[in-house]
Amino acid sequence: MTTRPLEGKTALVTGGSRGVGAGIVARLAADGAAVAFTYARSAERADDVATAVVAAGGTALPIRADSMHEQDIEAAVARTVERFGSLDILVNNAAVATVAPITDLTMDEIDAMLTVNVRSAIVAIRQSLAHMGAGGRIINIGSVNADRTPFSGQSVYALTKGALASLTRGLARELASRRISINNIQPGPIDTDANPSDGPTAQAMLGVMATDRYGTAAEVGAFVSYVAGPDADYITGSSLDIDGGFTA
Ligand code: NDP
Repeated sequence: MTTRPLEGKTALVTGGSRGVGAGIVARLAADGAAVAFTYARSAERADDVATAVVAAGGTALPIRADSMHEQDIEAAVARTVERFGSLDILVNNAAVATVAPITDLTMDEIDAMLTVNVRSAIVAIRQSLAHMGAGGRIINIGSVNADRTPFSGQSVYALTKGALASLTRGLARELASRRISINNIQPGPIDTDANPSDGPTAQAMLGVMATDRYGTAAEVGAFVSYVAGPDADYITGSSLDIDGGFTA
């Protein structure tokens, strides 16, 4: 029998109840990791994700934890370690995006993007580092919008994803001596509730891409699993695109 690449590893994925996060949870679990994941509102869908993982022979632990609240994230990390005994892989995936010109965004909408997309990742990283040993992996889910923002209304969202890229580079320097890697995976258009491939903006997105299709959550999950795995030990501090040529 072939050993699965993440056998014996433990993971925490933020925002795993739907979309890209659910694809990451499914793939990490299929590759052998025990996977905890957070959600804020979608309890039923979180249960569905966990049930599917267990039905496939894996281990999943859904945790309600709102990334707006530091205490929720701290509790999610603690619960993961309490249940699995360790934390090897952290994936910061939860994010919110409100698309509007900067003068139309409310400060609450701006604060939510800064808090969920950036501050919560910092909180999760700080908490996780207390438990992570050599071989640990931190993976941020950024966006190609950090590097290319072809449509108006995305300035603050793009800012948050640019912040993750910078955080990743800086932390690679701090964490290498502990043999922990950190990378920033930047998806292009992926078919999810947030960006449906048959939605009103899909044709415009396809118009600036090299390929003629959206990506899938499963494809991002496979990429994350590779970066989380033993073959990716030499990759750190990188922003890695999976974008159908959006930035080509
Ligand atoms: P979705 O909106 O489809 O799903 C978001 C997920 O994050 C849900 O599981 C949601 O859980 C969770 N979430 C949202 N807010 C919170 C919160 N406050 N606390 C905890 N969990 C929360 O997004 P996508 O799957 O499309 O995006 C996932 C990641 O991929 C994000 O980082 C996004 O920026 C990035 N990305 C996506 C692209 C795309 O085209 N789809 C392109 C580039 C990057 P719940 O429902 O329970 O609130």
